[in-house]
Amino acid sequence: MNSDRLPSLFVSHGPPDFILEDGPARMFLESLGQELTGRELPRPEAILCVSAHWDTGTPQTVALEQPETIHDYYGFPEELYALQYPAPGAPVMAHEAAGLLQASGFEATAVMDWGLDHGAWIPLMLMYPDADIPVAQLSIQPERGMQHHINVGRALAPLRDQGVLIIASGGAVHNLRYFSRTDTTPSLTSPPATSLPDWAQRFDDWLADIVERGDVEALGGYRQQQPDAVMAHPRDEHLLPLGVVMGAAVDDETGETTGRVLHRSWTGGTLSMAAYAFD
Ligand code: ZN
Repeated sequence: MNSDRLPSLFVSHGPPDFILEDGPARMFLESLGQELTGRELPRPEAILCVSAHWDTGTPQTVALEQPETIHDYYGFPEELYALQYPAPGAPVMAHEAAGLLQASGFEATAVMDWGLDHGAWIPLMLMYPDADIPVAQLSIQPERGMQHHINVGRALAPLRDQGVLIIASGGAVHNLRYFSRTDTTPSLTSPPATSLPDWAQRFDDWLADIVERGDVEALGGYRQQQPDAVMAHPRDEHLLPLGVVMGAAVDDETGETTGRVLHRSWTGGTLSMAAYAFD
């Protein structure tokens, strides 16, 4: 393995207003950028961020020189609409990512619309508050399922040897029907939140386990493999970004990944804020 290879990351972005609250997930993301630097990894040349909030029929990357900050949420405090993340774009890398996908048979394009939605800029603002690392977004294709996203990640793996930090932003457990505005107090898993339903805890545990075992096959079939998946993810879109970063970490020889659980906590009653790294 190339020692300069950057890890790829999965982070849960929670409800947008978690950026305004003191809580374990916010503190974790604030320390994550520093921690990556502390491991003496090279500073990323660019970030490719795949967010659950941009879905397109075929994979797209944003090739803008200056992507705008998109406030794609409703009914939140006014200060959330004033936040800007003015990081430069990464158009050359965005074209290269689209090219790698095309070379693997995907109908991918680099486009000049979109920008950075809240799934991308909220974690980035906490991790890299200076907004000085160029960033491009990558879309998801919810109707194509998890295995497609694992394959997208595998096609993009060479970027990791070129100083690109691939970050996936979604949610480890994400069922908004069970989101509680009155239970937004962020809490750590240990001791467990008293109100946390069993299905949420079981799915979060299962996901952490397959990450640590590097079981990318289990992720590909997660709806069949894990009975709580239907409750934890009524729709796929917040878990699909994990497929991209786990796919980007697959060792071509062994077919396995090396993953670490970086963080686990809860907000909004049942939203897991888990984060993982793949080396
Ligand atoms: Zn979201």
